[in-house]
Amino acid sequence: MATDAWVNESLYPAWGQRFRIKRELARVQSRFQDIMVFESDSHGRVMLLDGVVQITERDEFVYQEMITHVPLLAHGEARRVLIIGAGDGGVLRRVLQHTSVERAVMVEIDGEVIRLAKEHMPGIAGDAWNDPRAEVIVGDGIDYVRTAPPDSFDVVIVDSTDPIGVGEVLFTEEFYANAARLLSARGLIVNQCGVPFMQAEELRETHLRRAKSFPDTWAYVAAVPTYVGGYMTLGWGAKDPTLRRHDVATIRARAEAAGILGTTRYWTPEVHVAAFHLPPYIAEHLAP
Ligand code: SAM
Repeated sequence: MATDAWVNESLYPAWGQRFRIKRELARVQSRFQDIMVFESDSHGRVMLLDGVVQITERDEFVYQEMITHVPLLAHGEARRVLIIGAGDGGVLRRVLQHTSVERAVMVEIDGEVIRLAKEHMPGIAGDAWNDPRAEVIVGDGIDYVRTAPPDSFDVVIVDSTDPIGVGEVLFTEEFYANAARLLSARGLIVNQCGVPFMQAEELRETHLRRAKSFPDTWAYVAAVPTYVGGYMTLGWGAKDPTLRRHDVATIRARAEAAGILGTTRYWTPEVHVAAFHLPPYIAEHLAP
C-alpha cells in the first residue's frame, strides 16, 4: 500500500508542522535557496524556502492583509511604496489595491521565486505584475536602499525570509538607516519579524536596531496559522509617533476612501487598532 508522502518544516530543530503532499510541483536550487512548491491536502499550494513555510494559498490572506493595509492606512496618504522581498507577489497585489498608491517598487533577490510563484501560485499576485504602477526589480534589497534618493518613498514593507542567509542584511542597522533616509517626513517601515514565542531574539534585536533610526518603534501582531507558535509580529518603525495611535473611526474612514473596506478576510479597522496592543510575553521584548 502506498504510504502518504509528508514534508516536515525545518524551522525549529525540536518542534514543527508537517504537510501531507498531494503532489510536488517544483523543486529548484536557485543561487540563493532551495525552493519547493507543492500541492498539499490541507492548505492548497505551499511554497517552502530552505524548508521553511513562506506562503500557503489557504492562509496567505492573513499575512498579506496585515503587512500591507496596516502601514498604508496608518500613513493615510501613501503614494510611493517600496516592497523588499515578497517574491510571491501577494504584497504587491494588496498595495496596488490602495487608490492612493501611484508607484510600487518591489525588490526581490531571487527571480526563481517570482517565476515559480507566477507558474504555480498565480492567484497570489493576480494581475499585479502587469499594473503600470508596479516596478519589479530582481536584486538585493540592501543594494537598493543604499542608492535610493532621500524622500523617495512613503512606506517600506519588508516581506523577507528570516535573518539568516540572504535575508540577514534586511535586519541590520545599515538597512534601517538607509530606509529612514529614503522615507518621507511621515514615512514608516514594517518588516516580517518572526514568531516571538519561538524567535524572540529576531524581534528584540531588530527593535533595538530600528530604534536607532526611527523615533517611534513598536510591533503589531497577526495570527497566521502556518507560522507556527502563536502570534507572528510585524516590526514597526515610524518617524511620526501618531501613526500607530489612530482610532477605529479614522482607520475605517481611510479604508473606505482607499477602496479596502469589505475586501478583506482578516484585517478590519478594529483588528488594525487591536493588533498594536501586545500581550505581555511579546511586549516584554520591546522594553527599552
Ligand atoms: N511571507 C514570508 C515570511 O513571512 O517568511 C516571506 C515571503 S517572501 C517569499 C520572502 C522573500 O524574501 C523570498 O522570496 C526571498 O528570496 C526574499 N529575500 C530574502 N533576502 C532578500 C534580500 N536581501 N533582498 C531581497 N529579497 C530578499
